[in-house]
Amino acid sequence: MIKIKTRFAPSPSGHLHLGGARTALFSWLFARSLGGAFVLRIEDTDLERSTQPAIEAIINSMNWLNLDWDEGPYFQLRRFDCYNAVIDTMLSNGTAYKCYCSKKKLDQLRASQMSRGEKPRYIGYCRDNRHDYHADNESYVVRFSNPKAGEVVFNDLIRGPIAFRNQELDDLIIRRTDGSPTYNFCVVVDDYKMGITHVIRGEDHINNTPRQINILKALGAPVPHYAHLSMILGDDGKKLSKRYGSVGVMQYREDGFLPEAMLNYLIRLGWSCGDQEIFSVDEMKRLFSLDAVSKSSSSFNIKKLLWLNHHYINHLSPEYIATHLVWHLEQQGIDTRTGPSLKDLVMLLGNRCKTLKEIAESCRYFYEDFSGFNVHAAKRYLKPMAIPSLQAVRAKLLALEEWTPASVREAIEKTAEELQIGMGKVGMQLRVAVTGAGHSPPLDVTVHAIGQARSLSRINVALKFIAQQAQSTSSVHED
Ligand code: GLU
Repeated sequence: MIKIKTRFAPSPSGHLHLGGARTALFSWLFARSLGGAFVLRIEDTDLERSTQPAIEAIINSMNWLNLDWDEGPYFQLRRFDCYNAVIDTMLSNGTAYKCYCSKKKLDQLRASQMSRGEKPRYIGYCRDNRHDYHADNESYVVRFSNPKAGEVVFNDLIRGPIAFRNQELDDLIIRRTDGSPTYNFCVVVDDYKMGITHVIRGEDHINNTPRQINILKALGAPVPHYAHLSMILGDDGKKLSKRYGSVGVMQYREDGFLPEAMLNYLIRLGWSCGDQEIFSVDEMKRLFSLDAVSKSSSSFNIKKLLWLNHHYINHLSPEYIATHLVWHLEQQGIDTRTGPSLKDLVMLLGNRCKTLKEIAESCRYFYEDFSGFNVHAAKRYLKPMAIPSLQAVRAKLLALEEWTPASVREAIEKTAEELQIGMGKVGMQLRVAVTGAGHSPPLDVTVHAIGQARSLSRINVALKFIAQQAQSTSSVHED
């Protein structure tokens, strides 16, 4: 039995965006689901568009998504000798030929074809006149001798049979005048030499496939299976825009998404399994098949991605989520050495937040004293009438010998009971006093996580604040 081998072959001309990541995922899953191998190949032959940061972004994104490869990364730029050796063999066996036609001649040809309403194509002058005399220093390109008649048919594993007439395909340049091999040719040689059995890539490559198949046949190479994935559109049905998902994968990491949520989101862009929405990576590997990949385009929906992220934040172990959260806390410059453990922090805020960034942005009060109260919350809850309940709850919290969420809750309940005011009132005043704002997880766990000493000192600050406010209002009145 032939061992399945797939590849992901990005051109490093920018970030790895969602479409590329989905292609990588599907190729990876196809190999992994069938015990095959997965190759990472960087197609960096376009010197003007390829950049080192883009190569790094691709590799970082693959690592972050945990899409591991068995071979590579290969870099096409380092494989020119291999491509040129194949071209030399083709020149000697006649499946390729040198073309000396000048740019001027080709431009004239193109113009006359267009004026007759024909599709511009090379008519094969040098193919038919291979024995013309040329000086040694005359520059030339190498063209592939594409078959002139017949059809190229391939059975796309997603779209079914696709046929192209050879008449439509002209003799592709496979080596430029400067000696560099061209893109389509490098892909062919690599797919052949690397033993790729299944080429899974975007539908924008469908037109390249017949040319590549013809070259493979000329080389006597096996033709792999092809599967072309449909486009991902924005939820407005238009091309993905910056706002709708055309940013790089690493931007999603920065925005606080988990790789598990990303992968789960990506697999549902064009693949389904009944109406199941949540898939662990193990399940994906077990269930994935190309048969269930849709021919129609899929659309990007940020709400669904957020929903999945929220799901994973709350369903994966808090210890694991904490390992991803560390980076976001560092970005916020929060020193978490004193305060709740990161695992506890995840349990405190996970339910309230859809992203890790949101957790990091809303947890500072657990670790650091704040310099002021939220203006609206303070106006509403830190008023002179809050003084008795804040004093009473402070006394009760101070007296606690055992500091647990339950004992904190009891202290709050008792205060409300004693002063005969609603729990909600005592609670909100205390919440604003210890967190600085009007929103937090349930108060018992929040106060518990902030800690006894910190909570008491913040209540003192709040009491002082109320007194100062009262004084300044009364002095305003006296004036
Ligand atoms: N390098 C191509 C791209 O990034 C992919 C080529 C292929 O998969 O055959 O679009």
